[in-house]
Formats: sequence, C-alpha cells, structure tokens
Amino acid sequence: MFEIDLKDFFKEAVGSVRNFRVSGILQKKIQPFLVDKLDVKGEISVKRQENSAVIVGQIDYKVQASCDRCQKDFTFRNHQAFTKYLSDEKLRHLKFGQYPLLDDIIESIILNKPIAIVCKTGCRGLCSGCGADLNEESCNCSESDHIKNNPFIVLKRDNHGSTEKENFKSQNRQPTKSD
Ligand SMILES: [Zn+2]
Ligand SMILES: [Zn+2]
Repeated sequence: MFEIDLKDFFKEAVGSVRNFRVSGILQKKIQPFLVDKLDVKGEISVKRQENSAVIVGQIDYKVQASCDRCQKDFTFRNHQAFTKYLSDEKLRHLKFGQYPLLDDIIESIILNKPIAIVCKTGCRGLCSGCGADLNEESCNCSESDHIKNNPFIVLKRDNHGSTEKENFKSQNRQPTKSD
C-alpha cells in the first residue's frame, strides 16, 4: 500500500524521475491521536542522482484527535513534506524492487506534529474555573481563568506516552494550522 516500484531504477540515467501516488489507511498508534487509523494520501517523486536517488514526498493525512483546548473530538488534518536519500547500494537490494515508504511516512508524521492539536484557529477552550466551553457559552469567572491554551491539558496529554525526545523535537517546530 505504501510501497513504490523502484525496480532497476539504479540503472537509469541521472535526472530521470518516477512519480507515484500513494493512499491508504496507516494503522499505527501515534500520540496524541485518538485512534490508530490515519487516512494518508501522498505524492511521491523519486529522482536519480549520481550513485543515489532522492525521494521527495508530499503527504496529507487526517485522523481523529481531541482538541487540546476544548477537549472536543474532531478530525485533525495535516500536510507535510519529507525528503529521503537512497544509495544505489540500497536500491540494488530492494525486495522485488519495491521500496517501503511506511517508516518514512510515520517518522515524518511524528516529527511534524504541531505542539498543540487544536480543533480550529482561535478555539477559546475550556474555562479553568468552571469548565464551561468558552466557544459556546460565557461564564462569570475572571479573565485569568480563560487561559487560551490551558497548560495543564497539554501536560496531561504529554504524560500519556510521548517521549522526551519527541517533545524536544516538536518544541522546535511551529504549530501547523488545521482547517
Ligand atoms: Zn477546541
Ligand atoms: Zn468559568
């Protein structure tokens, strides 16, 4: 499903290109998503270089997630790109000439996850005083209870399995807007 045909690609001239479309359900539990089914679509381009090949992938995916601010379930969508280099040595030894993209796709999704998963830009979240959903109602608590991005919710999420290494990586990235 996430395999591309690179049979005898190492024999082709420098500069030649193969294009692929991939799509399917990726079954993998990735924190903090709610389910282990990610609907992935991608466009993959592989270009011959001197003694190697470069894979450039563009991936769109959607998955059920819970908003870090208001805690509602919603469909999270993301678009991202990845680049991978393959030596001719590696190309020569592909099983049936098929290159499995699965690990590259998973790695790219993990590395490009936004720090905060929010249902919409400007989600007002829950009041930390009374728990009201501020997207739907106002309450009588003070403004200081209406913290836009309640840090305790994020902490709660991180305690559920993300590794420190993952957190360190994601802190260096800007959140991606979901639509
Ligand atoms: Zn929300
Ligand atoms: Zn309140």
